[in-house]
Amino acid sequence: MKKILLIFLVLCLSGCSEKEVKTIIEEDKDLVSINYPITGINVLDDAVSSYVNKTYKNFKKDYSGIKKPELNISYTYKEVNNNVVNISLNTFISADKTINKIKTFTYDKKSKKFLSMEDLIADLDALDYDIKKLLLEKYRDADMDFLSNVSYDYFTIDDENLTIYLGPAILKDSGSELIYLDIPLDTLDMLIDIDKSKASDNYLHIKKRNIDYDDKVVALTFDDGPSKYTNEILDVLNKHDACGTFFIVGNKASFYDKTLVKLVKNGNEIGNHSYSHKWLNRLSPDEFKAEIERTQNEVKKITGFTPKLFRPTYGGYTDRLKSYTDLIFVLWDVDSSDWKVKRKEKILKNVIPNVKDGSIILFHDNHEYASLAIESVIEELADDGYKFVTVSELLEIKELREQE
Ligand code: ZN
Repeated sequence: MKKILLIFLVLCLSGCSEKEVKTIIEEDKDLVSINYPITGINVLDDAVSSYVNKTYKNFKKDYSGIKKPELNISYTYKEVNNNVVNISLNTFISADKTINKIKTFTYDKKSKKFLSMEDLIADLDALDYDIKKLLLEKYRDADMDFLSNVSYDYFTIDDENLTIYLGPAILKDSGSELIYLDIPLDTLDMLIDIDKSKASDNYLHIKKRNIDYDDKVVALTFDDGPSKYTNEILDVLNKHDACGTFFIVGNKASFYDKTLVKLVKNGNEIGNHSYSHKWLNRLSPDEFKAEIERTQNEVKKITGFTPKLFRPTYGGYTDRLKSYTDLIFVLWDVDSSDWKVKRKEKILKNVIPNVKDGSIILFHDNHEYASLAIESVIEELADDGYKFVTVSELLEIKELREQE
């Protein structure tokens, strides 16, 4: 039987010391993938954890006789203002039937209590009429008497909307659809401040990928960016459902901040390629550490992602340098020499015949040559049965294979 590995890269912004994302992944009998935030607010964390544990236990009990049931719990996290935090947990179960439900928590650190809709909205009774009207407009085919069941137990807040979720199965034949209504914040008379500068995604999730680790896998890596060509490469990767690992030079990061955010959101990985691309062996320990740290900080500040990988400039390093950082040093076994040969045909000739299962291929995204060749590289490798993974995923897959 093929084994499926669900890999999530879970990230968080700076100030993560007490905050974290708990992840549970199981892949033997059941498919379980759970991510939920730990905020450092004990009461809130206890409520969230206990909901997750209960859901997990019930899933194990209720689906014990069913072949490969899937439980997936994902979340949203929003600091509404300095005191109020809103978390939603979306439970998705796929088995003999599909279940999709939501649970939300809104906690006020100042009053030390969970907030309800009554705590947020000045005149909920008056709003009730409008909400029902909007619901009928949105769900035209709905059974009319669902309106009598409308409650305001579950809601989330983002920079634009207050979103109200209606309980599962409130609509007949709603299947796995979540029933919800977005109400623009600027139409509401809110009792609490909404601070839009607060992070709405303190824990940024990279797109998840299903990876069969019996498949042939390959990691595309790009050095020396970001640049104006990085964006084109990202579009090609996205188009082919592929991904890459970009070893970036830190001092360029803030200039291409949007590119880096897109890069991470599309499921690619950022690695550290120093701050100013110096020949590292000549640096003092402090200079070397500064080269690494400055890039770590830039990437973290812009994307929320903290790189785990380091690619030494010019591929040169010593064990002495390695001892100065916890980052994993990553080289390559296939060199496209794109900067040298320039032409697409030559890049393909350098790459395709040399790729094997588990290869790491080196490109550069600071000039146009890789962007011209990358689509053909992806198409040829995909035709040959290769799946594309990030370097971190590749390392994880290699480790799992070794455990076999
Ligand atoms: Zn380089």
